[in-house]
Amino acid sequence: MKADASRQWRLLDLAELDTRLDQITHRLRSSDEQRAVDAATRRRADIDTDLVLARTAVSDVDREVRRAEDEVQLVRDRLTRNQSRLDSGQGTAKDLQALQHEIASLQRRQSTLEDQELEVMERAEGHQATLDRLEARAAELEAELAETVSARDALVRTLEAEREQVTGRRGDVAGGVGEDLLALYTTIRESVGGVGAAALRQRRCEGCHMELNQVDLGRIRSAADDQVLRCEECRRILVRTPESGL
Ligand SMILES: [Zn+2]
Repeated sequence: MKADASRQWRLLDLAELDTRLDQITHRLRSSDEQRAVDAATRRRADIDTDLVLARTAVSDVDREVRRAEDEVQLVRDRLTRNQSRLDSGQGTAKDLQALQHEIASLQRRQSTLEDQELEVMERAEGHQATLDRLEARAAELEAELAETVSARDALVRTLEAEREQVTGRRGDVAGGVGEDLLALYTTIRESVGGVGAAALRQRRCEGCHMELNQVDLGRIRSAADDQVLRCEECRRILVRTPESGL
């Protein structure tokens, strides 16, 4: 293929813009910012499981507290009733003795139940403290997640804006390359990966960084300026520059 030197040089501009576009794509796919979002999302999700367990524990123990309170109240009410019957002094001596006996037994029962109620309330406080601590931590993690998302979004916006700008410039440059040369460049870019053209600088192909041997250099020296050359190593279009070292 033949293409004058200025068209070939444009390929180097094109390759530079394509390199930048590839970097932007890579950065968008795997940035530290995205990794930070993923890590913060995992931490936030992990604590959700603990929160569910802690909330269940609190509501279970709250039910226990209410049950304990009800039981104590029943005994208190019965004591009050018995006490007023005793105070009224009605009934036989035997009845009153039985009543006194029951009151003593109810008082012991009340004391046991109050101890149990206290124990349940202490457990409830412990569960509530755990829940409070987890909720505070969840709020911290939520804020951390929001921060990482906002940093990631800022990066994406910056890169998208740059991509748009570079793509625009690439369109202008590609227009000056010409269809035939651009088609060759595109085919090579797709098959080799990276860029489709590279400069020959200091006898080295800048696409694959291999130094050219004397035979290839001799062939290049004798080639016409408008001859489109290829690197024998990586098959990229090899563009001669004033620093080629020929
Ligand atoms: Zn090469």
